[in-house]
Amino acid sequence: MDAESPRVDETLKLDARGIPTAECPNCANRVLTIQAWFDDDYEIGGYMLDAECAVCHTMITTPTPLDLPMEAE
Ligand SMILES: [Zn+2]
Repeated sequence: MDAESPRVDETLKLDARGIPTAECPNCANRVLTIQAWFDDDYEIGGYMLDAECAVCHTMITTPTPLDLPMEAE
């Protein structure tokens, strides 16, 4: 192994799209590579739902507030 080798074996990456998640189901990393845009106040204006884990490159679906499970009453 040389210094350029990734920390996580990329052949283990998954296609986990379809279930919105804030955490990679493959390696539990929470840093995601997304496509986003910014509004005039420099706040994030939106983001695409297709994303990938920044560490193992597993493909995931980004979460939105609407995806939060309802609390049991
Ligand atoms: Zn990952």
